[in-house]
Amino acid sequence: MSTSDVINPATEELLRTVELTDEAGVDDAVARAKVAQQKWAALPPAERAAALRAFAAVVDAHIDELAALEVANSGHPISGAEWEAGHVRDVLNYYSAAPERLSGKQIPVAGGLDVTFNEPLGVVGVITPWNFPMTIAAWGFAPALAAGNAVLLKPAEWTPLTTIRIGELALEAGLPADLFQVLPGKGSVVGERFVSHPDIRKIVFTGSTEVGTRVMAGAAAHVKRVTLELGGKSANIVFDDCDLERAAATAPYGVFDNAGQDCCARSRILVQRNVYDRFMELLEPAVKGVKVGDPASRDTEMGPLVSKAHWNSVASFVPDDAPVAFRGDAPSGPGYWFPPTVLTPQRTDRAVREEIFGPVVAVLPFDDEADAIALANDTPYGLSGSIWTDNLSRAVRVARAVESGNLSVNSHSSVRYNTPFGGFKQSGLGRELGPDAPLSFTETKNVFFAVQEA
Ligand code: NAD
Repeated sequence: MSTSDVINPATEELLRTVELTDEAGVDDAVARAKVAQQKWAALPPAERAAALRAFAAVVDAHIDELAALEVANSGHPISGAEWEAGHVRDVLNYYSAAPERLSGKQIPVAGGLDVTFNEPLGVVGVITPWNFPMTIAAWGFAPALAAGNAVLLKPAEWTPLTTIRIGELALEAGLPADLFQVLPGKGSVVGERFVSHPDIRKIVFTGSTEVGTRVMAGAAAHVKRVTLELGGKSANIVFDDCDLERAAATAPYGVFDNAGQDCCARSRILVQRNVYDRFMELLEPAVKGVKVGDPASRDTEMGPLVSKAHWNSVASFVPDDAPVAFRGDAPSGPGYWFPPTVLTPQRTDRAVREEIFGPVVAVLPFDDEADAIALANDTPYGLSGSIWTDNLSRAVRVARAVESGNLSVNSHSSVRYNTPFGGFKQSGLGRELGPDAPLSFTETKNVFFAVQEA
């Protein structure tokens, strides 16, 4: 069996060697998951609900352990890692209500009684990226299990440790064996087998648009369902009528959270030209004030990048002649550290057009509302974004015009477990979270019962 080394990105030390699942291992897991799924779906809804609440309670009892593991494996600051582990518990609790509420419909028709059932799909494959291993996994597995499915979950190669632990916690909580299996492995092996295996009925994929496109093409051969959460190049639009101090003070946290390794990162700040200079004056101390360092320390706001390979990719966007306006600090010595970096490039620059997925932001001036909207939409992506204005009508107009799945006005909020999340255009397909997510793990079955005239 092949293995892969898991590295602590803040120290470059070896954390653990993980065994990788091969294709035969996936096929075996699918066969066992099929059996487990049928028993799970046949349980009374209240029993499935109770099992998910028990799973949430066991996660809650292990928040500190899961957070410490994410700090070590992913370099996430401890406060963020604790939030992420708590979010897994919250997502499980939220969807534990679903088994008793997937009620279908009774539709008035002639000649009888017509009802719909929300039938589970069967076995669902969830493929996650390395940037938020725990939270993104939960967005897939919690509603899928709640809707009566079995789940096979493949974490990203660099960051499998918290996901492996959550798989163990599911068993400790009493979830049936084989119902929820974590299969660490390569995308080219486990991920591709998820896509090609005829008994995996749906793929939930979060990752790059490049790989997501391949997953969708492969799924088409089986008319396999997909949910895709892909890349982003979101805009933070700052109008001259906003609270400029607050817009500038918060802008770094809208893009440098998780060292910019966030699909919702507002990596393009668009600023109305008449307040551009003042905004840059305010932004500089805010960027320099971001605390970058040991992720285990409570006052750290930004940790390292996840790997050396990713560091190289981010650094390629800041060549020696890059238009750097100013930069924050980063530790020296071991670890994949990259300072918060503010660029003032041309609109056509690669740093403006491509997803960097690191702590690098481009600031661009715009002339008026129409120019801001056109610039915000001048990207193949459409995941997130922010609008800063104190003019309510403008906020509504711009929010409706920006082609993006998740917008916030006068804040940088993106993710709440109880509201839908997902992308327009090449940022994805389908929505996760929110009240309707379990439905995307079901097929609607319509049954007509003929009723004889008396
Ligand atoms: P990636 O596409 O390289 O990998 C994602 C996952 O796909 C990994 O588990 C990988 O092993 C697997 N994979 C690789 N090749 C595969 C194949 N041929 N078939 C099936 N699976 C395969 O992405 P990444 O570098 O891990 O993550 C970063 C990307 O994820 C960024 O583009 C980011 O914007 C995106 N992302 C999107 C969201 C969202 O919700 N929209 C959230 C987080 C990250």
